[in-house]
Amino acid sequence: MTKGNINVSVENIFPLIKKFLYSDHEIFLRELISNATDATLKLKHLTSIGEAKVEYGNPQLEVKIDKEQKTLRIIDQGIGMTAEEVEKYINQVAFSGAEEFLEKYKDSAKDSGIIGHFGLGFYSAFMVAEKVEIITKSYKDEPAVRWICDGSPEFTLEETTDKTDRGTEIILHIAEDSTEFLEEGKIRELLSKYNKFMPVPIKFGTKTHTLPLPEDAPEDAVAETEEVDNIINNPTPAWTIAPSELSSEDYMKFYHELYPMQFEEPLFNIHLNVDYPFNLTGVLFFPKLSNNLNIEKDKIQLYQNQVYVTDEVKGIVPDFLMLLRGVIDSPDIPLNVSRSYLQADGAVKKISSYITKKVADKMSSLINENREDYEQKWNDIKVVIEYGIVTEEKFAEKSDKFTLYPTTDGKYFLWSELEEKLKPNQTDKDGNLVVLYTSNADEQHSYIQSAKDKGYEVILLDSPVISHVIQKLESSKENVSFVRVDADHVNNLIKKDEPIISKLNETEKESLKKNVEETINDKKFTVQLEDLDSTDAPFTITQPEFMRRMKDMQATGGGGMFGMGGFPEMYNLVVNSNSEFANQILKTEDAESKEGLIKHALDLAKLSQNLLKGKDLTDFIQRSYKHLEK
Ligand code: ADP
Repeated sequence: MTKGNINVSVENIFPLIKKFLYSDHEIFLRELISNATDATLKLKHLTSIGEAKVEYGNPQLEVKIDKEQKTLRIIDQGIGMTAEEVEKYINQVAFSGAEEFLEKYKDSAKDSGIIGHFGLGFYSAFMVAEKVEIITKSYKDEPAVRWICDGSPEFTLEETTDKTDRGTEIILHIAEDSTEFLEEGKIRELLSKYNKFMPVPIKFGTKTHTLPLPEDAPEDAVAETEEVDNIINNPTPAWTIAPSELSSEDYMKFYHELYPMQFEEPLFNIHLNVDYPFNLTGVLFFPKLSNNLNIEKDKIQLYQNQVYVTDEVKGIVPDFLMLLRGVIDSPDIPLNVSRSYLQADGAVKKISSYITKKVADKMSSLINENREDYEQKWNDIKVVIEYGIVTEEKFAEKSDKFTLYPTTDGKYFLWSELEEKLKPNQTDKDGNLVVLYTSNADEQHSYIQSAKDKGYEVILLDSPVISHVIQKLESSKENVSFVRVDADHVNNLIKKDEPIISKLNETEKESLKKNVEETINDKKFTVQLEDLDSTDAPFTITQPEFMRRMKDMQATGGGGMFGMGGFPEMYNLVVNSNSEFANQILKTEDAESKEGLIKHALDLAKLSQNLLKGKDLTDFIQRSYKHLEK
């Protein structure tokens, strides 16, 4: 038997490991299973190249707990280690790695952002165990050995006859403060979190399997059952398979495997696959975002070689895609670093822009493959796309190919189609395209109606980030302006073939304006007389487009808008001087009746702009009943 001292300069690093990684003790299991998986895959490689002259077979890993003995065991059928290799890999490599890790981690201990504490290896076992044993037998024809260490730098290493088959068994004697790791439920939870898609089958206990009844079985026959291995993982998840080998059902199946609590089907999937200049595979899903309850929980998961690392993918995945679901697997993401470092890392930036490009390309092909289907899904995906247009230049550049502009009549246009459509009758005096839009088809109904009556197309842009999108579109496209249907200049904006003839002369107009101004007597409203079609509403309240946008931007957190304080409420009251009603006001002699007409008309205009509230609304209703009684 060999006794020895592990050569570490920090006396007793284990208390340190415990202290630094207090919150993440559970990762020991992931680390040990990763080692066991590596050992198995190494053997696979060695047998495939003829280096190891043994039968590879169908190796699996096993995790076992023994509550009485207070042990947790991880058993593999991999390459194993000789005594010499234990000396080298465990006593030297593993522990020098531990020291190095601690050195790094000490400085960044405050930055709790070290992703998943990757890079801790075998010695993470000491976060939960007071004593660790390794019993291992190499695939080479050498005796098995047993290594024991109690967390101090002292260890013993001896030959053993306890193990005759190839592979390694790690026995953790669980410490008093970590007995939760002896609970079946806890281990099951960890296996499902970290190891669900690892490449070697992992057995944890057994389960009862009901055998099918033979065809000719009598009606009262009882099916036989048998105990079978309970394999907790799927070693070949969708992202490890070539897209050409997968049907859409396979992707759906994988989605539900990944998110067992999600019952809704995703809208579509994007398969990621690069091997140059970095390695990355994955599958992303577009979920239905409306009425979604699990946004916070079911996030994109990051893996490295099928080992779960984290679902905090900020920095790796562009912000606008954080609403998607799925898996990204890349060995090239440095995980042993703090988050701030990660975001500045060149490889990570490339990964992020690759994902952006891939999503854009997928959108383009989806709309080309099945336009109707894409249109149906538009409402569920638009937030992601619009957010992308606002925040990612590269995405914005491609977005004309797959961004839809729905009309209030349920038609959908691509930008190029919309331009075609609007050009003939929605341009201003300078030839600029005027896109009329509504942000709420119900609230702005009367304005939409009046625009439609004039033959204009009204686009429905109703998502929360739309004011930013519009700003972006106006600055990136030449000669385009977006105008909301209830904005102040809609009436004058669009070039008309024949000018409308005024029904009132200048003196009449002036007196009408004076009447209205004096009756209303409210600084919020600027009274404007306009010669509109006689069928247009007599009174309309509009808001300067600019002012309203400023308010919207402020409400949705527009850059630089914070702290500018509330904008004053300002409206235009457009009086249609060609309306019959305007004429009637003018002709009414009795001052009280005239005032009554103006006030009532103002209230109606306020109603259609959702501005009539509280006491004014009550008064209006009472007044209206009185009118009806007359
Ligand atoms: P890493 O896995 O990052 O190299 P570890 O500290 O986890 O670091 O392990 C150190 C070394 O010990 C491994 O590289 C491997 O050679 C050896 N080792 C650990 N676990 C096993 C195992 N289950 N079977 C065979 N070798 C192992």
